[in-house]
Amino acid sequence: MQFLAGVGPRRAEVLARIGVETIGDLLEYFPSRHEREEASTIEHLDLGMTATIVGQVRKVRRRPGRRGPTVSATVQDNTGTCTLTWFNAAWMTDRLQQDAIVRATGKVSEYRDGPQLVNPRIEILGDDAEPVDESAPPRWVPVYPATTDLSSRQIARLIDRHLDTLLPLAEERYPAEFVRSRRLAPRDWSIRAMHHPTSETDTTAARRRLAYDELLEMQIVVQWARRRRREGPPAVSVRVDEKIDERIRGRFPFALTAGQSRAVADVVADFAGDRPMYRLVQGDVGCGKTVVALYAALAAVANRLQTALMAPTELLAQQHHRAIDRYLRGSRVRHALLVGGLPASRRDEIRRRLAGGELDIVVGTHALIQDDVHFKKLGLVIVDEQHRFGVRQRAAIRGKGASPHYLIMSATPIPRTLCMTIFGDLDVSTIEEMPPGRGPISTRVVIGDRRQTEWEFVRGRLRQGERAFVVYPLVDESDRVALSAATTEYERLQREVFADWTVGLIHGRLGADERERAMQAFADGRTQVLVATTVIEVGIDVPEATCMVIEHADRFGLSQLHQLRGRVGRGSRGGYCLLMTDAADGAEHERLAALLRTTDGFEIAEEDLRLRGPGAITGTQQHGVPELRVANLISDGDLVRLAQRDAADILRDDPRLAGPIRAPLRRSIARRYRDAAALIRAG
Ligand code: ADP
Ligand code: MG
Repeated sequence: MQFLAGVGPRRAEVLARIGVETIGDLLEYFPSRHEREEASTIEHLDLGMTATIVGQVRKVRRRPGRRGPTVSATVQDNTGTCTLTWFNAAWMTDRLQQDAIVRATGKVSEYRDGPQLVNPRIEILGDDAEPVDESAPPRWVPVYPATTDLSSRQIARLIDRHLDTLLPLAEERYPAEFVRSRRLAPRDWSIRAMHHPTSETDTTAARRRLAYDELLEMQIVVQWARRRRREGPPAVSVRVDEKIDERIRGRFPFALTAGQSRAVADVVADFAGDRPMYRLVQGDVGCGKTVVALYAALAAVANRLQTALMAPTELLAQQHHRAIDRYLRGSRVRHALLVGGLPASRRDEIRRRLAGGELDIVVGTHALIQDDVHFKKLGLVIVDEQHRFGVRQRAAIRGKGASPHYLIMSATPIPRTLCMTIFGDLDVSTIEEMPPGRGPISTRVVIGDRRQTEWEFVRGRLRQGERAFVVYPLVDESDRVALSAATTEYERLQREVFADWTVGLIHGRLGADERERAMQAFADGRTQVLVATTVIEVGIDVPEATCMVIEHADRFGLSQLHQLRGRVGRGSRGGYCLLMTDAADGAEHERLAALLRTTDGFEIAEEDLRLRGPGAITGTQQHGVPELRVANLISDGDLVRLAQRDAADILRDDPRLAGPIRAPLRRSIARRYRDAAALIRAG
């Protein structure tokens, strides 16, 4: 990027952080929305309009807040004064100086009888700044996803400066007839219209075209993956007859739930086919996925095949291993745990037995994919929480067998809509119900000062010998300010709120060892309260944990909150989930209330998808799906279906996009899906 005028090494670094590494990336860094912007003097501001004012800063005030200071400034022009207010705006504190001339753009509201702009976009101007020209017609302006280092306006200016030179890079991707029959706007025209909007009609047409392009690429990659698998080497067959089925079920001290039985039937049907199984078993934490996984493993063992179960952390691997060990007590099935923390001699022994075929089931972590781990005959790979592994790690574990069956377990619910479009190549079994005997979880939204009462409630639970999580949001674990806030809060809780108990702390800056130690201390009851940022290990079972307190719940996606809630109520006593929020916004309370209405993770994920797009759903990114920048899988449903059909047609004619007419499309896919080749192999 550095060779572009206006981009020095520092700017290049900032751009790289938002994913802009090439000029092509810059051209396709699209605005998230467009705003109608009207230049106005302060006296002519009207409620509800989006206006740009230019004025001089008279007074700056800062009020500390739990999430960061509220910064407000009074700005004056020749006609009046206006208040600018930013909430939770640590980054604004040092930017505004008394007497500076600023240009601010935002939606006009009212504050103490005067006009106010809340969270306006702002630019500090030089002393020679011109006052606004009210006679200028309103403009449509692009609003780019910005960061503290790079404002939307700076991005706009950079793109502006280079648009004419870069636009010829935007090649048309389809034959003219194809474009016409789908009523698509030309690609280069559309890119220009996104960056230089002229009217609402134009941006709508531009959006549609660019969304279509994104969706078509995505569908081609998804359908490629599916084809590859069909054409790949056949799987070893796993036969499950009635006798085997009966013997396996007899291992469990309970009858399978209806959902588990359905998932098991799906697996058995997959095993009977000549293609390797490629199945996701999903269901909320605690629904009993491990049982399904063990069923599959024992079926493989009955067919003299080995099974590897890989989990993202040692603690999780240990937990799986303990469960399996319990179910297999008295059986002849040979199993072991392989994790990094074992003594070298023990590791050597397990490796030797795996290679010699003297172990049937191995449970482990990344330690399983080391080069020196070999299997005699690996027939089934099970991966827990696969989104926590990279594409290469997934490929590596499957590469340890010839063409092993593949089973994924996930507690992150992926809405049906997404499964169809993004994971069109994956078979899915969904376990909807919980095993019997689980206590209910009661969820409450706690606003502002009422938390004092709730702390007393939590202490009441602790006195009963129960345990509590207190979670702080830390979107970016490298954010020092926020981390120190969580640490300070932890100290305060220990001192003032839970003085009679021992409080532990866990966050993403700790090493894996320290995190596991903190988690273990909580599981053992040496700490009774665990303060955590978002890294609470998925899947860790602490039956005594009954309270999940989530601070600033408004900052989490609903699915994330639901996941956190799943950490409590694992025993028969049920649990409590307290969603604390300072947000004054009614719409925000409304959003959180979705969690009071339902405990169905899929319903919640659909709601998230509707409100915040697929990026909000954990794991889609790690599945190798790039963030959609323009398309929306819900509101663009018609385009999704069109792209699905078109992708199928295109691949039928030209499965490898080898023809010259497909070259631009092929190049674009290669650029955006850098990992596509690996993705296709690893799924
Ligand atoms: P998941 O992996 O989906 O979070 P687990 O497989 O760990 O869930 O199961 C959670 C708990 O439920 C375990 O303690 C397990 O013994 C129990 N369990 C699983 N299936 C059943 C069932 N069909 N009936 C009763 N208890 C079950
Ligand atoms: Mg589990």
